[in-house]
Amino acid sequence: MRSCPVCQSIQSHEIFKMRFAVPDDFVIGNLQSVRSCQNCGMIFSDAGKMQEAYNRYYASSIKYTADLEGPSEIETKRLEHVYQELAPYLNANTVILDFGCGGGGLLSLLARMGQKNLIGADPGPRPKIATREFDFAHLSLTEFDLREFKPDIILATGVFEHILDLQKTMDHLRSSLDPGKLLYVQVPDASKYECGVISPFQDFNLEHINHFSSTHLMQLFEANGFEIITVIESRSPHTANYLMPVISVIGKRSKQVSPIARNSNSLEGSILSYISASDRRLDQILEDLEKKLGTKSEVYLWGGGQLSLKLLGTPFFQKLRVMRIIDRSPTTRTINGIEVSEKFTDLLPDVPIIIASTLHASEIQQHILGLGLPNPLFQLFQG
Ligand SMILES: [Zn+2]
Repeated sequence: MRSCPVCQSIQSHEIFKMRFAVPDDFVIGNLQSVRSCQNCGMIFSDAGKMQEAYNRYYASSIKYTADLEGPSEIETKRLEHVYQELAPYLNANTVILDFGCGGGGLLSLLARMGQKNLIGADPGPRPKIATREFDFAHLSLTEFDLREFKPDIILATGVFEHILDLQKTMDHLRSSLDPGKLLYVQVPDASKYECGVISPFQDFNLEHINHFSSTHLMQLFEANGFEIITVIESRSPHTANYLMPVISVIGKRSKQVSPIARNSNSLEGSILSYISASDRRLDQILEDLEKKLGTKSEVYLWGGGQLSLKLLGTPFFQKLRVMRIIDRSPTTRTINGIEVSEKFTDLLPDVPIIIASTLHASEIQQHILGLGLPNPLFQLFQG
């Protein structure tokens, strides 16, 4: 069983079990146990797998490099939000290392803002813009040594919620920084998941396995020899009409490790409310679909993302005959034996298409209409 990623305690209890449909070549497993640490109250997911399985999953997933050609408009807004938080801690000569830099969007923005000393580090491929705008180091997120770059600040945005062995990562981050140097971490704020249930269980997915409150992120910093400089709770642009609650912590590498015990049991209560709200939402979606479909049992699903994996894991979808999952950039060939493909020109015209998205449903509907497909289109219940 997984130990607590923040305090390492092995005492935890399960608060929820999430079943997903998974790609047939998937290596992580289709069942996640969402657990609450009995010592510090941190919430985390356990799929019973090792870091190695996650490394293989991320290596085969192209999602994190999809913005190689440059970030989207929303992504740019998200990065600007990060920059605003960072700006007070930077000067023209600051050596900035972006840990988990993906396509390099944040470093590009920093370059535009006049920063000259930029390094990206990521387990994925070297971003195309890397040689022009910043240096790049190819590395594992759990086994690395960044001392040679002499960073003044290491950034990790949208990274810590993915890492199985956070203790190891924190050890290496600490030893990569000289005393007095800074670490900036931004993660989704799990204590506020319940405030924005748009897509059921959107925050419990195959990738997000650490669910932090600000108390837990601070605890992780302090237990690993970082003195807290600032904690910022804010909302970060996520889609055109959704701002996602996030927590940012900046810590200074101190000479000694002097852990201060913190405990927040209120996180479990917030997560339990989130689970009931998500459950209600999922029930509404399925009841509404049942009405819309009537006697039809054959459907196409448009979109092969995390919501589709949850829908396909429900008994309702197991009764339907899903003929194909249409996805613009498929990362797998089959899910539960169902073909996943970008092909849409040979669809049977009478079979309804279910749009498997809540956040982008209208855009996708416009896109499908633009393609001239005659199929009945069903959006998911929006509430
Ligand atoms: Zn704990």
